[in-house]
Amino acid sequence: MNNINYLEVEKNTDVEIPENLVFGKNFTTHMLEMNFDQAKGGWQTPVIKKFSDFNISPAALVFHYGQAIFDGLKAYKHADGKIALFRPDKNIERMNRSAKRLCMPELDMETTLGALKELIKLEQDWIPTKEGHSIYIRPLMFAYDPFIGVKPGDQYKFIIMLSPVGPYYPEGFKPVPILATDKYVRAVRKGVGDCKTAGNYAASLLAQQEARQEGYTQVLWLDAIEQKYIEEVGTMNIFMHFKDEVVTPMLTGSILPGVTRMSVIDILKDWGYNITERMISIQEVVDGYNTGNLLEIFGTGTAAIISSVGKLKYKDTIMEFSDEHPGELGTKLYEEILGIQYGTKEDKFGWMTYIE
Ligand SMILES: *Cc1c(COP(=O)(O)O)cnc(C)c1O
Repeated sequence: MNNINYLEVEKNTDVEIPENLVFGKNFTTHMLEMNFDQAKGGWQTPVIKKFSDFNISPAALVFHYGQAIFDGLKAYKHADGKIALFRPDKNIERMNRSAKRLCMPELDMETTLGALKELIKLEQDWIPTKEGHSIYIRPLMFAYDPFIGVKPGDQYKFIIMLSPVGPYYPEGFKPVPILATDKYVRAVRKGVGDCKTAGNYAASLLAQQEARQEGYTQVLWLDAIEQKYIEEVGTMNIFMHFKDEVVTPMLTGSILPGVTRMSVIDILKDWGYNITERMISIQEVVDGYNTGNLLEIFGTGTAAIISSVGKLKYKDTIMEFSDEHPGELGTKLYEEILGIQYGTKEDKFGWMTYIE
């Protein structure tokens, strides 16, 4: 491709993928960097170069005022050697919605997708082929003008880094315990809860830490105004499987619109389930549990695909499902999506993008 500059790039030889991959710890040889400079007319030619540190001013806007957005998706190597991405256009569209909300420049779909494919092609030996393994793709954008004072930046860096990852649950697909909190809130409507922006995650750390101290792995967030309606979990969207309905909270502006969430809704519709996006109160969940109407709860997100909820605590109520066996529908969805991503199941929605 002639619209990418290669900076001292040599083809990888002898790539050694570490045996025990810890999620997010290992990075490939190269990364993509594309600079935006208002004074130079906007986005510059993308550059593929060695994965390396930045030299950035301590006054860079991002450190002080938080103009930072990111996204996350995966690439898979199929048994026949083909390399596939799962709905990458949806991640770039979402990144552009985040950019718009935070006064950051939008990306051109074709350039960005093209550059991502070139980077993955160059780094393909880094894609692990073992079952459940893949390469996690982390696009990132931030303002780096050296300036103290609240204003949108004129200079941005867009980066794509790649991290080889193993299965999210190395010991197999196991249910997780989660804690519904009314002590803190994650995001408020008309705020930035529907953007993948750095500050949202900093704001969630304390609640997460306190949940862990109580033995729960994640926080289930309630709405910021009444702490009555369910929103989402940590970095996952949430689904409640009732006897006659599968419910996921509707996107009211404070919930991150997950690509996995969107895909699960499509699959459930296709399977003939009564799937609804609506407001759902935590009390409705407790009542459903007490009457035996609530069959299972699961979360959805790129990293784990599906997380089955084994236990949910809200105030003094502990709703127990199973800490051994994941729910039936969650398991079925997990196997379906995994199959589509690894090319062992039919991609009837045309979700996969292949890298030639
Ligand atoms: C990324 C994320 C999700 C899941 O989105 P996917 O596109 O399915 O990975 C859900 N909630 C939050 C807060 C997130 O950051």
